[in-house]
Amino acid sequence: MIKQIFFLIFIIVLSCSKEQPKEVGSSFLPLNHQEPYTAGKTYYGFNNYIEYIAGNLPIIIVAPHGGSITPSDIPDRTFGTIALDTNTAQLSMVIADSIKARFGKFPHLIICRLKRTKLDANRNIDEAAQGNAIASHSWEEFHHYIEAAKTKITQDYGNGLYLDIHGHGINPDGFYDLRIWLGYLLTGEELDLPDNILNSDNYKNKSSIKMLAETSRSDFFELIRGSSSFGSLLENSGYASVPSNISQSPQGSRFFSGGYNTLRHGSKNSGLIDAIQLELPKTGIRNNQAEWSAFSGKLTDVLNQYFEEHYEINLSQ
Ligand SMILES: [Zn+2]
Repeated sequence: MIKQIFFLIFIIVLSCSKEQPKEVGSSFLPLNHQEPYTAGKTYYGFNNYIEYIAGNLPIIIVAPHGGSITPSDIPDRTFGTIALDTNTAQLSMVIADSIKARFGKFPHLIICRLKRTKLDANRNIDEAAQGNAIASHSWEEFHHYIEAAKTKITQDYGNGLYLDIHGHGINPDGFYDLRIWLGYLLTGEELDLPDNILNSDNYKNKSSIKMLAETSRSDFFELIRGSSSFGSLLENSGYASVPSNISQSPQGSRFFSGGYNTLRHGSKNSGLIDAIQLELPKTGIRNNQAEWSAFSGKLTDVLNQYFEEHYEINLSQ
């Protein structure tokens, strides 16, 4: 009789667990369960922690550090950086809207909606998720959506550009650098080198725009800080940037050269998609909607010129 009761309880527990509405642990859906993706449509990962708006342009906009969701079933991370890049999720959405309005097509947009205390979507999985199953799955989804975007771009266009959108604040010494820092995986010291040395294969091959350096009609140092470089086009639009024709290198100033995503998703190691990490100051760009709308319009201009000059792709067609 006791055995029968235990068996009954076992069956009840089994059937209850089957009816759990949330997927947990080993019952996460396969990463590709929403494929094929339709341009303009929004897809969400587990519990809406990762958001992907599929695109049909050769541009990927990614916001790893703008999330605000703090679920109690993901413990706070215990090591690494936890600073929020304020308003970068909202800014990235407006950038995507601006691109769509200008070219009539969609860039790919991927946003980590989890707060950085729960998941750091610009680190390797060990530091990013720190062993939590849900955070780890969200990390996998985040990169799956990016990989899907890269595959689509490679099929449709060949080459493309990935932008990792971040925000920087006041430096530890109290100085607030109001320039945009552009990360190509070149350190501040490397950018301080003269043009003829920077132009060597050594630096080209370690950069996140290695593929562009091989295909563009411009020399590598010109792509980094010549008049048609991303930084110089931003300068022409009213946004001080380093490296650019105005600020050729950080010259000892604090600088971020690009993180995990820029390394993984750019063309340094393989592939046809280049990557640039954008570290945006809050002042003048991220404070309020008027600022990020104005910046988004100018960034769209910059992308238009950059693609025409270096990728020889007309984004309006
Ligand atoms: Zn960041």
